[in-house]
Amino acid sequence: MEEEFYFETNAIRAQHERSEFREHSVPLYLTSSFVFDDAEQARAMFADEIAGNIYSRYSNPNTNEFIAKLCLMEGTEDGIATASGMAAMYSSMAALLKAGDHVLACRSVFGSTHQILNTIFPRFGITHSYADISEPETWESKIQPNTRMIFVETPSNPALDLLDLEWLGKLAAKHNLILNVDNCFATPYLQTPAKWGAHIVTHSATKFMDGQGRVIGGAILGTKELIKEIRFFTRHTGPAMSPFNAWVLSKSLETLAVRMDRHCDNALKLATYLESNSHVATVKYPFLPSHPQHALAKKQMRLGGGLVTFEVKGGLDQGRRFLNNLKLISHTPNLGDTRTIAIHPASTTHSKLTDEERAVVGITPGLIRIAVGLEDIRDIIADVKQAIERE
Ligand SMILES: *Cc1c(COP(=O)(O)O)cnc(C)c1O
Repeated sequence: MEEEFYFETNAIRAQHERSEFREHSVPLYLTSSFVFDDAEQARAMFADEIAGNIYSRYSNPNTNEFIAKLCLMEGTEDGIATASGMAAMYSSMAALLKAGDHVLACRSVFGSTHQILNTIFPRFGITHSYADISEPETWESKIQPNTRMIFVETPSNPALDLLDLEWLGKLAAKHNLILNVDNCFATPYLQTPAKWGAHIVTHSATKFMDGQGRVIGGAILGTKELIKEIRFFTRHTGPAMSPFNAWVLSKSLETLAVRMDRHCDNALKLATYLESNSHVATVKYPFLPSHPQHALAKKQMRLGGGLVTFEVKGGLDQGRRFLNNLKLISHTPNLGDTRTIAIHPASTTHSKLTDEERAVVGITPGLIRIAVGLEDIRDIIADVKQAIERE
């Protein structure tokens, strides 16, 4: 029987077979293919009768280590490492859907996920409906006879509204639908959707998982049965993660828990400070008692996450002035980095939506999203304060 360890131990010590060199840290396996011992082994591996690496588009010791760790962290049976978060979102849907199928998605999905649902999938006869996070009572009526999958993100970007994962798990089970949760904002350290009934958990590993703004990557995790189906699709269409990125990301997972603790601690301190600043109109952070879904956040998340959104009084003009006044904090679209990052969603990441569409997903003209980094919180708050208050 396998021994069971706690989260941090799994993230560091998920099983790896040492090579003849007896290395302590898992080395980088830059090899496109793997050698067979004999003709029978080659036949059996290709027939899926025995496990083993064949070709790095299918699997590699580094992607295997990354996925073994993530499965233990998310509580899922199996998984696939992908070249990017979007490769994970696309493959996890395209592999399981066919012409005539319908997806029910939360309206506030990541921008490129929107493009897949709105522009790419309709060409293949796959349709979708959006449902609003703020109106859970409308979701069930949007399920159609041909609905096959529910796709959601929680907390939402950038409004930081939450969906009740337990409720979603039950809704999916009742209608026999696949529940696919993009868990990129929370990471498995803060939230494990499979525990609430998600069949598929998708990730952009580019964000908090790497956590240092270095590599692009993604992951699809889930039940043995569904991952087998998705693996057929990824094996033959080729969105594989490079061994180098898998090696970097496997090391990154070893520090995920300590980094997330500090991201969340800094974020809560920043959010608390912003609530006390008289120039600030609104602040949203899941673990602030003022968050409308604070109780739900406490139920399904270990901590509040690394993102804080707020609105400076004065709307669009003041929001833009805030960004131009920043001295320390970076102005860039990424998130989940050691460096604190600020962005103005209405004029950048969500600029392609109409004003009305933005309003529905909680993006007001002056909204600022801060992905709180790991610098000393006193320096982060000092920069935010001077940028808000300077003319
Ligand atoms: C960044 C992001 C993605 C896309 O990931 P990439 O690694 O950039 O392809 C998907 N979903 C969410 C919530 C993200 O933040």
